[in-house]
Amino acid sequence: MSAYDLVIGLEVHVQLNTKAKLFSPEAAHFVSEANVHIDPVSLAHPGTLPVLNEAALEKAVALGLALGCSITRNSRFARKHYFYPDLPKAYQISQYDDPICVGGEVPVLRADGTTFSVALTRIHMEEDAGKSVHDLDPTHTLLDYNRCGVPLVEMVTEPVLRSASDAARFVAEIRRIVRYLGVSDGNMEEGSLRCDANISIRPTGTTPLGTKTEIKNMNSCRHIEQAITYEAARQQACLERGEAVVQETRLWDVASGVTRSMRSKEDAHDYRYFPDPDLPPMIVSDELLASVAATLPELPRQRYARYVTDWGISPTDAETLVEERHRADLFEGVVSRMGPSAIKLVCGTMLTHVLRLEESGSASAPLSVEALLGVCTLRQSDRIASASVAPLIERLATQAEGTSAEAAAEALGVLITATEGDDTLSQLVAEVLSRHTAEVARYRDGEQQLIGFFIGQVMRAYDGAANPKHVRTLLIEQLG
Ligand code: ADP
Ligand code: MG
Repeated sequence: MSAYDLVIGLEVHVQLNTKAKLFSPEAAHFVSEANVHIDPVSLAHPGTLPVLNEAALEKAVALGLALGCSITRNSRFARKHYFYPDLPKAYQISQYDDPICVGGEVPVLRADGTTFSVALTRIHMEEDAGKSVHDLDPTHTLLDYNRCGVPLVEMVTEPVLRSASDAARFVAEIRRIVRYLGVSDGNMEEGSLRCDANISIRPTGTTPLGTKTEIKNMNSCRHIEQAITYEAARQQACLERGEAVVQETRLWDVASGVTRSMRSKEDAHDYRYFPDPDLPPMIVSDELLASVAATLPELPRQRYARYVTDWGISPTDAETLVEERHRADLFEGVVSRMGPSAIKLVCGTMLTHVLRLEESGSASAPLSVEALLGVCTLRQSDRIASASVAPLIERLATQAEGTSAEAAAEALGVLITATEGDDTLSQLVAEVLSRHTAEVARYRDGEQQLIGFFIGQVMRAYDGAANPKHVRTLLIEQLG
């Protein structure tokens, strides 16, 4: 796109991971079996009334505080009316005039190391609708109401994104943040995080926004990037043919890689928003604000910056470490016990071995700080060889919690027991030298590289259970 600039604003729906639904005690978590998490409130039976789930409010406030939003201390729920079979009340309880969070900003890192910042318009709370299933029965649409009433927050950005890849990076960052905060599992495949992309183009260098189209309900960062790229090109082709872009809602067709028109866009007044008379104003007390603020963790971006700037970790490695909170927690847990001199060792062990373990899925539980600390300490003091790290970590991952790394290393037979002061090792070195008098003579004549040969001989004689550094020291002593 040279003649046109791309403008993107996103609406990201995040499912909060509360136990109960937003306005009823029914379970909120995802299940594949249809219509098992249903109750009179979420099915809109006559006479039922909504009661706010405070846990959802706390999670929305946590997200708002983490992103620098101002928290609305006295906010309201509103009814958003539309008829659709998956919405039994014929209105969705959402927020309109007074969303729980206003403003805020999300700094995001690009792959090339530069950063950009995404201004948020608002974050509001709302309940989810059910799901219409169109592809199971040839003649009927089926309805699954499990999701009805599940708590969501909708994050709306200003139209400030300028490329498809930035949009995808932003959504990935939101996913990381909500997972760090523990407010959502961020599972895009199961629909816990979905995104609508609003897209327009305008002649390069001009200010007025062009007519936008909205691509609904994408649940993967790759789809978001592909759909925006496609849509921008489609709009440009429209304009170049002399046609206008039609404001409408479109769908991303994953199979054919195109966006398709779904319906013309509704305006806000079509929804007849008004304050829900069934619900009192939602008050955020000083106590609630303070208690949520006290539990906020460090965010992935801040951790990343600390790793790169203070700890000298490469940007790529730092990004991998902070991707998952449990991974970064494990890394830091071990570093804090071993001290900064161990950063390189722990980082290397994490990236090579712990990641492989995570990917293999063979561990019964994530590796504990104690276990990794044990492995790294053994390695740091050369009590295991580098080749023993992988089998030792694998073993620890499948053992009962509390098994010490040292015990596991011993059971595996990889613990190096021979040490410098050890007489047997010293005798063995003498023995090896006496068996290779010719090489000893050559070494003494200046063929220093023969030291490797001697080390190899001693190691073999000791079944590999000696520390090569110590063997070298002993050899040099006796050869000298
Ligand atoms: P609507 O009333 O159509 O829902 P909003 O003003 O609520 O539109 O904005 C919805 C989203 O669309 C926001 O993320 C906003 O940043 C984005 N947006 C608004 N206008 C444009 C535009 N012309 N081009 C791209 N994105 C836009
Ligand atoms: Mg809108």
